[in-house]
Amino acid sequence: MTANTPELSNRLRALVNRDRLVKTVVDLVAVPSWTGDARGALDCLANILTNDGFRVERPAGGHPTAPAVVVRLDSGKPGKTLQFNGHLDTVHLPFVPPGVSGDHITGSGSCDMKGGTAAAVEALRVLRDSGALTNGAVLFTGHDLHEAPWGHGEQLEGLIREGCVGDAVLIPEYLNGCIPIVGRGLATWKIWIRRPGAPIHEVMRPLDEPSVIDAASELIARFRQYATHLKEKVDPLAGTETVFIGQVHSGEIFNQYPQECRLEGTRRWLPGEKRANVEEEFRKLVAGVAQRTGTTIDIEFEIVRDGFHLDREHPFVKTFQEAFSTVSSGQTISCGAKPFCDDCNTFWALANVPGITHGPNAGGAHTLSEWVSIDDLVRVAHLYALTAVSFCAA
Ligand SMILES: [Zn+2]
Repeated sequence: MTANTPELSNRLRALVNRDRLVKTVVDLVAVPSWTGDARGALDCLANILTNDGFRVERPAGGHPTAPAVVVRLDSGKPGKTLQFNGHLDTVHLPFVPPGVSGDHITGSGSCDMKGGTAAAVEALRVLRDSGALTNGAVLFTGHDLHEAPWGHGEQLEGLIREGCVGDAVLIPEYLNGCIPIVGRGLATWKIWIRRPGAPIHEVMRPLDEPSVIDAASELIARFRQYATHLKEKVDPLAGTETVFIGQVHSGEIFNQYPQECRLEGTRRWLPGEKRANVEEEFRKLVAGVAQRTGTTIDIEFEIVRDGFHLDREHPFVKTFQEAFSTVSSGQTISCGAKPFCDDCNTFWALANVPGITHGPNAGGAHTLSEWVSIDDLVRVAHLYALTAVSFCAA
């Protein structure tokens, strides 16, 4: 393979336009785009790409409220397709407008993940301007419906099902300390334990009525046992499977017999486990508690993402590691675990497409103080362009 050379790397780096990249991030951050309603930011991105001379497609992916943005940069010669994928929706927090100060761009989505997405766009421009993509193609996709609990990756799933998918994917989320090769699947759950009677003073309560708080304590004990059982499944990098309780609520005042107890939490599992089995086992356990306590228990079980696995021997991993070293003056990057779920989970579970999450130095995701490093956006744009040339030619 001759694609990854210092000469080519220098040529690509020289074409990364820092000011253009900063402007793209600022323009995208300036348009509020809460999950489910990211049309404005996607339209903005489509305009930017159209003005750059790219042919932009807008497939709905099952979410016509905010059609996705798709660009294909094709060398016209046979080869593989590398996909750059980013989401433009942000979590539902108050909007923070963009700001630029020193090496930082701040504002809603600057970290998660309009900054990274803009770096992928810059890589696309560099590849086009350099003519360095001699084989295969690069597929860029930008979409909505990423952030849970408002979205569950439905639009990306729609795009993949419609065939809008590459042979491998790079996702510029704010993670770059390692190449994540394993990540747990995630579901969020809510449980309502109820008894039939009306609210009543505790001394008046019919003695045969079940206690929702007793039932909750039994459920919590069962979950503790279940968690111990789940700990037997361990991955050396990703850790164990878990069932976690984050909230318990019940009662109006100290001497009223409550009618309802509500619990909320998460369930995480290792790749390879089927989401349907995970849900069935969970529901069975809860139903057993309802039966034993004489209460009614309703469950809402929402799958966020499946588990994620990347074969560390896959040629894509080596290609990426080599490009990383070239771009980062000989530094190396090793394999590790992914702490959160992202779209790589969807690519793996739905289409068996290898994916690497690697983005800029950034922070404050899911807070009001997001930031991203401009220097590192430049590095990511350079790295994505170099990886694409190597991967698509191989
Ligand atoms: Zn994100």
